[in-house]
Amino acid sequence: MKPIDFHLHRPTTLAEAIALLAEHGDDAKVLAGGQSLLPLLNFRLARPEHVVDLGRLTTLRTTRRTTDGLTLGAMVTYARAEASRAVAEDAPLLAAALPFVAHKPVRARGTVGGSIAHGDPAAELPAVIRALDAVMVAAGPRGVRRIPAAEFFVGNLVTALEVDEILTGIDVARPARGTGAAFTEVGRRQGDFALVGAGAQVTVADGVVVDVRIALTGIAGVPHRATEAETLLTGVPPADLDLDAAADATRAVIAPSGDLHATADYRRDVAGVLLGRVVATAVERATGHAH
Ligand code: FAD
Repeated sequence: MKPIDFHLHRPTTLAEAIALLAEHGDDAKVLAGGQSLLPLLNFRLARPEHVVDLGRLTTLRTTRRTTDGLTLGAMVTYARAEASRAVAEDAPLLAAALPFVAHKPVRARGTVGGSIAHGDPAAELPAVIRALDAVMVAAGPRGVRRIPAAEFFVGNLVTALEVDEILTGIDVARPARGTGAAFTEVGRRQGDFALVGAGAQVTVADGVVVDVRIALTGIAGVPHRATEAETLLTGVPPADLDLDAAADATRAVIAPSGDLHATADYRRDVAGVLLGRVVATAVERATGHAH
């Protein structure tokens, strides 16, 4: 299939890109790495009259270390983020998740911001961003908005971004010392969207778990932050963590859907298993001891 005819705009400044969206509004689509949008255009599932390519906005391709953590430009590709020492050190959960995204050719073009703006509940990065309580920075004709992850993912492929807003960056807080992170998933083939995925970041201080963040993919319309499990695990010495109880607490509150590839019961069960595994690995990385 081929897309319908559209006007391709290639702005060189953010202001120009925002002006184009302000002018064309509902009839325009932003293009980042194209790894989701191009198939949608080719199958004519998206039929914009105007496509605004962010490829020339080099300012959105930088990763900046701040006093509190990292600001990732929306146009940083998965591959760049994967190779970044700043991401490895300051956003270990993001670093753990990146190799699970698709295949290398997709990671060479697909962008961190594109994944988050697309808001696919089966995707790795929205779950990571949700677990980390990252803040999305959006720019539009009405100015700049900072949107916390808890408010950003609204539904299946629906985010809090307005049609005339551009996601410019993502602020991720630097974790404390004694933090470990892990991500894993179950899929039908390597590189496919996973059936279920889980990520955890755990901080241990003075012999107890002081902070734990867990998010799951593929079990709801938005990434699921497993607060029920987090509550059970916080304040507990690593050796005393009851991962089975944490997994069961999450299984009790999630309501995944079944489809051709996996039943709802399978997804629920696997979510609990993966949750236990990522927490155990994150604790091991935080403390240097196996759980
Ligand atoms: P695009 O495709 O260019 O855009 C996606 C959407 O986001 C569009 O609606 C666009 O308008 C909007 N958008 C993009 N950037 C911005 C912005 N800065 N501001 C506002 N709106 C914006 N993804 C996974 O997470 N896990 C996988 O396992 C996976 N497997 C894949 C396998 C294949 C074979 C392919 C082709 C894709 C796969 N993907 C997977 C999707 C891939 O990760 C996409 O790259 C990602 O979903 C979108 O990023 P992009 O930069 O390509 O954005």
